[in-house]
Amino acid sequence: MSAYSRLTPEVRGLGMTSQRARDRLVERLQGDGIRDSRVLDVMRQLPRHLFVEEALATRAYEDTALPIGQGQTISQPWVVARMSEALLEFGTPRRVLEIGTGSGYQAAVLAGLVEQVHTVERIEELLRNARRRFRKLGIANIRSKHDDGRLGWPEEAPFDGIVLTAAGAQLENALLDQLAPEGVLVAPVGPAGRQQLVRIRPHDGARLREVLCPVSFVPLLSGVL
Ligand code: SAH
Repeated sequence: MSAYSRLTPEVRGLGMTSQRARDRLVERLQGDGIRDSRVLDVMRQLPRHLFVEEALATRAYEDTALPIGQGQTISQPWVVARMSEALLEFGTPRRVLEIGTGSGYQAAVLAGLVEQVHTVERIEELLRNARRRFRKLGIANIRSKHDDGRLGWPEEAPFDGIVLTAAGAQLENALLDQLAPEGVLVAPVGPAGRQQLVRIRPHDGARLREVLCPVSFVPLLSGVL
């Protein structure tokens, strides 16, 4: 039984937000190449419609990014699945740091897969909403902080996994420094229109950098709002 199998009927949704809608989304993700059954199981159960505004809830199980206010978006489900799968491919990390909480959806997916998630968001209002969602869903293994995530969370380092959900021009050294020697980092890198999903992982005593696929994320910005 996976982490989110005991949610109440109230949060599970009806009609366009029902279990059937989530099942269809997961079938589509499988058709589009997502293989990790742990990731698929969590996404089958986690109600994505609670991570968007009510007016957009009926679109929550389309495989598309949606606006969450403040010019930001909840990532496309396929991208969330691919990043989670890439992070877990060579073993399950225990402690994961996410940069860019946004709606909180990616953090909640990770919280169903690993022991402890730390997540950092620079826009306070988005973080407030995300924390409300974590409470409503009874998620107890996410710690969050309002800060510029390019600095990471040094007091809590090292992390076995680091995920960025906003794209910088290059990988931040501060974040690479907070990755455990055997840790895996997954991040979009590059300017708008030319971003790649990059993975750093240990290989033969060194760090291997792999390019996984083209992606489209909002930019990683400095300072806090
Ligand atoms: N993981 C989110 C994706 C949200 S979009 C989700 O599942 O909904 C990316 C988020 O990164 C935005 O909320 C944006 O405000 C945030 N962000 C951008 N630069 C940041 C930075 N330097 N530190 C922390 N968060 C940042």
